[in-house]
Amino acid sequence: MKAITVEPKKAGSARYEEFPEPDVREGSVLVEAVAVGVCGTDVEIVEGKYGWAPPGKTRLVLGHESLGRVIDPGPSSSLKKGDLVVGIVRRPDPIPCPNCAVGEWDMCTNGQYTERGIKEIHGYMSERWRIEPEYAIKVDPSLGLLGVLLEPMTVITKALEQVLLTGQRAYWEPKTVLVTGAGPIGLLAALRLKARNLDVHVLDRAETGPKPQIVHDLGATYHTGSVLDLGFNPDVIVECTGVGSVIADSIQQVDSGGIICLTGVGAGGASGRVVADMAAAVVLKNNVLVGSVNANKRHWYKAGQNLAHSDREWLRRLITRIEKPEDFQQALVREPDDIKVVIQFSDI
Ligand SMILES: [Zn+2]
Repeated sequence: MKAITVEPKKAGSARYEEFPEPDVREGSVLVEAVAVGVCGTDVEIVEGKYGWAPPGKTRLVLGHESLGRVIDPGPSSSLKKGDLVVGIVRRPDPIPCPNCAVGEWDMCTNGQYTERGIKEIHGYMSERWRIEPEYAIKVDPSLGLLGVLLEPMTVITKALEQVLLTGQRAYWEPKTVLVTGAGPIGLLAALRLKARNLDVHVLDRAETGPKPQIVHDLGATYHTGSVLDLGFNPDVIVECTGVGSVIADSIQQVDSGGIICLTGVGAGGASGRVVADMAAAVVLKNNVLVGSVNANKRHWYKAGQNLAHSDREWLRRLITRIEKPEDFQQALVREPDDIKVVIQFSDI
């Protein structure tokens, strides 16, 4: 079979190449790939900045945002041939830490978890892949290709759960929410927040292209420019850019008793004074900064429900399709209008 592979930590090593059939030890369910989404983590792996091959191997099959069709459900599975499934990304650490021991591997405390397509387990960018039945999430067949949005939806399902849990520390009645960054995570956050009847605002640097209209069509308000110039103080900010200045401005701008949920991972130092000023703003307003990464099985299940009940036409506008895996390099060169680039492996 063919797969998109990379030698981790070696820039420019990505190839679409002949690769052995998936090892039966990777799971009893055999799946034919339909599509795989590409995100910033994949781009970082291809750039040689991140990623780990399986122990004893030099190359890693890329891809963690999967969608596939079951070819062989194996002996002990509730799955059927032809079911559309998405594979969970993370596996618990082998020790396991207390969080992994109770199935909350998204909160792993020792960092020894593994992740498909990222850390020590082959990913989903291969014509066929195998998975353990308990890590295969069935998706609503009417979603079709949109099922590939499940993994990013799990990230936001967990993040919003963290926000709601944090809000319970005091009397809390949020009305206005700001989402910074109108990438796939930000737009899916806006979709879910609108479903809660909140006054949703999305800020992004794009002044043209499809993003303003996509946000407007949700019934949310689109902004460009600085968070400091919004003209109001949001009760909640869901930060999806990872950009230092956006995070610093968000900490200044959020209302008293506010919550900022950080989901983006960026780079860039901050001076001691900037950090001290930010900390003062957090303390004096009783604010909470909560970080959120990955998702556990509860979030995967909820995200599947949420996606199945979302407007298909709106979701379709988030996806840019690359029709052949051999053109995978195009997925790494983003056009300004691209929101979620998806590499299609087989028809649906
Ligand atoms: Zn753990």
